[in-house]
Amino acid sequence: MQAKPTGAAIRQDFIDFFVEHGHTFVPSSSLVPGGDSTLLFTNAGMVQFKDVFLGTDVRPYTRAVDSQKCLRVSGKHNDLDQVGRDNTHHTFFEMLGNWSFGDYYKKEAITWAWQLLTEVWKLPKDRIWATYFKDELDQIPEDLEAADIWLTQPGFDPNHLLPFGRKDNFWEMADTGPCGPDTEIHYDRGPEFCNMQGVPGHICGVNGDCERFLEIWNNVFIQYNRLSPTELVPLEKKHVDTGMGFERIVSILQDVPSNYKTDLFMPLIRRVQGLTGQSDAEREANLTPYRVIADHARATAFLIADGVVPGNIGRNYVCRMLVRRAARFGMKLDLHKPFMAEVAQVVIDEYGDFYPELKKNAPAILDNLTREEKQFQKTVNTGLEYLNELLADLKKSEQGVLDGALAFDLYATHGLPLEITRDIAQEQGLDVDTQGFQEAMEAHRLASGAGKEFGDMGGGDVEIYAQLVESLTASGKLDAKGVLYNPYKSVEGPGEVLALIREGQPVTAAAVGDPVEVLLPRTDFYVESGGQVSDTGQIVSANGKEWTIRVNGMRKPAAGVIVHLGEVVRGQPQVGDLAKAQVDTERRKAIMRNHTATHLLHAALHEVLGDHARQAGSLVAPDRLRFDFNHPQPMTREEILDVEARVNQAILANYPLHIVEKSLQEAIDEGAMALFGEKYGAEVRTITIGDEEVYSYELCGGTHVDETGDIGLFLITYEGSIAAGVRRIEAVTGWQAYELARERMNILDQTNHFLGTSPAETLPRVKSLTESLSAADKEIEKLRTQLVAGAFDEQLDSTEEIEGVPVLRIVLPNADMEALREMADKFRQKYPSGVALLASDLDGKPILLAVVTDDLVKRGLHAGNLVKQVAQVVGGGGGGRPTLAQAGGKDASKLAVALDQVPVYIKTNLK
Ligand code: ATP
Ligand code: MG
Repeated sequence: MQAKPTGAAIRQDFIDFFVEHGHTFVPSSSLVPGGDSTLLFTNAGMVQFKDVFLGTDVRPYTRAVDSQKCLRVSGKHNDLDQVGRDNTHHTFFEMLGNWSFGDYYKKEAITWAWQLLTEVWKLPKDRIWATYFKDELDQIPEDLEAADIWLTQPGFDPNHLLPFGRKDNFWEMADTGPCGPDTEIHYDRGPEFCNMQGVPGHICGVNGDCERFLEIWNNVFIQYNRLSPTELVPLEKKHVDTGMGFERIVSILQDVPSNYKTDLFMPLIRRVQGLTGQSDAEREANLTPYRVIADHARATAFLIADGVVPGNIGRNYVCRMLVRRAARFGMKLDLHKPFMAEVAQVVIDEYGDFYPELKKNAPAILDNLTREEKQFQKTVNTGLEYLNELLADLKKSEQGVLDGALAFDLYATHGLPLEITRDIAQEQGLDVDTQGFQEAMEAHRLASGAGKEFGDMGGGDVEIYAQLVESLTASGKLDAKGVLYNPYKSVEGPGEVLALIREGQPVTAAAVGDPVEVLLPRTDFYVESGGQVSDTGQIVSANGKEWTIRVNGMRKPAAGVIVHLGEVVRGQPQVGDLAKAQVDTERRKAIMRNHTATHLLHAALHEVLGDHARQAGSLVAPDRLRFDFNHPQPMTREEILDVEARVNQAILANYPLHIVEKSLQEAIDEGAMALFGEKYGAEVRTITIGDEEVYSYELCGGTHVDETGDIGLFLITYEGSIAAGVRRIEAVTGWQAYELARERMNILDQTNHFLGTSPAETLPRVKSLTESLSAADKEIEKLRTQLVAGAFDEQLDSTEEIEGVPVLRIVLPNADMEALREMADKFRQKYPSGVALLASDLDGKPILLAVVTDDLVKRGLHAGNLVKQVAQVVGGGGGGRPTLAQAGGKDASKLAVALDQVPVYIKTNLK
C-alpha cells in the first residue's frame, strides 16, 4: 500500500503545481486584515488582494499562489455553530488559492484545476462534480463559457455538470464592486457518507443537505463591476480568484472520513487524549469536545501569533471567547486545569515550519492561553451556576429564549461569553436572544464582535482617476506606472500641473479659496501609511504666474494615482501650468525623528519587556509619536525609565541607518520585524539601525533620519492602557523634547524661586508644606466643630412649644452631617421628649437631620416623613428611621423657609 501523503506535502503540491505554471508564491497575510479596520478577520484568500481587484493597488506579478490563514467566526461568514459538530467546518482554516490579475482566465483555471485533481493527485474522475452559473432571474448571462470548458476536460462526465443560481454560483464582495460567476468543484465521498439515510424524500445531491457531496474548491471569475443592484458593467481586466479548503482536500487524499482524522488534527486530538487519559473508544464517544478543543487550539495559537490576545472587545473578544469555549468543552472531559498551552504546543510543532510566526511567538501563545484559562476559572463556576438557575426559571415559565441583557450580564460579571451561554442553552433545548446581547454590549460600549463581510469597499471615485491616468499616460504626460513617487529623496525641477480636481470632478483652473486635488507627474510628498502622517507643504507656479496652493494632505485614490489635497491661497492655477512642489521640511524632519525613534522604542521594549511586546498600532506625527503594543500589565516606572534610557543610549551611539529593498521572504527569513495589520508587497524596504551591532531591523516604508543622533532627545510623556492586554506609549523627540524639558525646568525654577529652595530641596520642602497644611486643616476642622457646637449649645435652650411638645429648629452654619449627629445626641440628652430639625448650609448645599423621641413616635410622628417634607422645599429628599432621619437638597437659601414646615408637620400628625 502506498503511504498516504502528509498534509504538509499536499499543501506543497498545490503551491508547486501553480509555481510551475508561472505563479508567484505569496505568503499568507495576517489574520488581521491590513489597512482595513472595518473587517474583523481575514475570511478568504481574496482579502489581501482586494485592492488589486478594485484597481487601487498593483502587484509586480499577475499570477499568484498562496495558502491563506482564514478565520470564520464573525460577521456574515460565521461557521462557529458547525465547528466540532460536523466534519468539514473550522473556525480557523487554510484556504489554498491560485490567482490571476488580468492574466489567464476561465480556460486555464478550469483546466489546471482538473489536472491537479486528476493527474497530480489522481482523484477518480467519476467522483468529481462541477457547478456553473445560471441566473434564476435571467438577468445576468449564463456562464456557458465555463460550462463548455468543463465539457472539454478529458474524462469529465458531462452528467456531472450542474447549473446553479446566484446564491451558490455568483460571487460578490459587497453591494457594489468587482464580482462575477463562479464554478464550484464538489467531491462525491460515496453513499455511505450520507447522514440522512432513511429520511423520507431525501436524495443525495450536490449542494444538497447531506454530507455525501463535499464542496472542495471554488473558482471565481471576476468579470463585472457592479454599480448598483441593477447595473453590471464588464471589467476591462478580468481576474481569477480561487479558494480550496485545505483540510477538506487533505481528508480526501488521506482517505479519512473527517477533516479531524487527517494528520492536520490527529496529533492535537491525541495530545488532548493524553491529558484526559481516555481510551480510543471513549474518545470516539466524546468526539465533539475533542474536535472543538483541537479546532480552537489552532485558531487561538494563530490569532495570538498575529498579535490578537484575549481581551474584552472586537478581535480580542473573539480570541477570549475561543479560549474559554475550548476550556468549557474541556470541562466535559474532566479537564479542570489549564490545558490549552499543551495543545497549542502541538500546533506550534506541527505548523511552525510553514508558519514561522508560530515559533517566533511561542512564549506569547502559551502564556496568553494559560493566563486566560486561569482567569476564566475564577468566575466560571459561579457563572455556570447562575446560568443554570436562569435556564431553570426559563423552563418553569415555559419560555424558550434567554433574555439578551441577562446573557450580557453573564459575560460582563461572570466572564461567560455569549457563545458559551448559547452552547449550554442549546444543550437544554433553549436559545438566547443574540440581538439583545449585542444591544446590551453596545450599550456598554463593547464592540459587537461582528464586522462587515469584506469591510468598506470605498473607492467609489476610482473610475474618474483611472480615466484621467489612462488619457495622461496615453499622451505621454504621465509615466506608464503612474505618478512617480519618491518621498525619500527630494525630486529636482518643476513639473506640469496634469490635473486639478474639485469636488470629485476635473476642472481646468481654480481660484483663491477653492479646495483642490492636484495631480503632478511626480511627487516627493509622503502619503500616509504605516502610521506616518502625510506631508504638508505648498505648490507654487514655476513660470512666474504667481499662484500658490497650500497642501494640507495627500491621497492615493487609485492605483498609480497620488494627489495633493490643497487649497488655493493665491492666484489662479491652471492645468498645464509649470509648478514646483515644496514639502514643509522642518515638519518632515520632525516626523523623521519620530519615526526612527519609534523603531528604537520598539526594539527597547523587546529588550526590557520581552518579544511579546509587539507593535499593535502606531502614529508618527510631527509633534509626537504614539506606539501601541501587546503587554498584559502596566509598565512599572523603572521599566519606563529603562526603555527611555535605552532609546537615548541608541541615539547617543549615533548609529547609522541602512535602508535596503529586498524580497519580503528574504527579509522575514533574516528576522526582520514585520508588523501585524500592515500590508506588504513582494518587494519591501528594510530599515536596519546599527552597524556591527544591529539594534533594530524592521520592514518599513516610512522616512527616517540618516543617523540616530539626529533624533536629539527622546522623552516618554505617557504610558497607559487602551484595551485589555494592549498598552500605549506616547513620546516626543528633537525640538519638542527640548521644549518639554525646558518647560518643566522653568516650572521647577519658578517653584524654587518662590520657595527659596534649590532643586534638591524642592521635594522635601513641598512634602513638609503639605504636611503642615493638612495638620492646619485638621486644626481648622476641630475649631469649626467647636464653634458650631458652641453656637448650638447656646441655642439648645431656645426650643419652642408646639402642641405642648418642645421643638428645636435651627440652621447651623458650616456643620457637616457628623456634627449634626453630635448635636442630635445632645438634644436627646437634654430633652427626653421633643422634636428637633437641625439644618446646615454646607458650601451652598443644604443638609438636614430630624430627631423624634420614642414617645412622640408612638404619638404619630416620624423623623423620616418630617425630614422629607422639609427637604422638599429645598429641592431634595431623604428618609430614615422613625427616630432619626437625614436629607439633602439643592438650594440652601431656602432653608429658613423650609423650617416653617416643622410646625405644620407636627400639627397635622401629632395624635
Ligand atoms: P461551505 O458551503 O462548505 O460552507 P463556502 O461556500 O462557505 O463553503 P467558500 O467561501 O467558497 O466556501 O470558500 C472556499 C473553500 O473554503 C470552500 O470550497 C471550502 O472548501 C473551504 N471552506 C469554507 N468554509 C470553511 C470552513 N469553515 N472550514 C474549512 N474549510 C472551509
Ligand atoms: Mg460557508
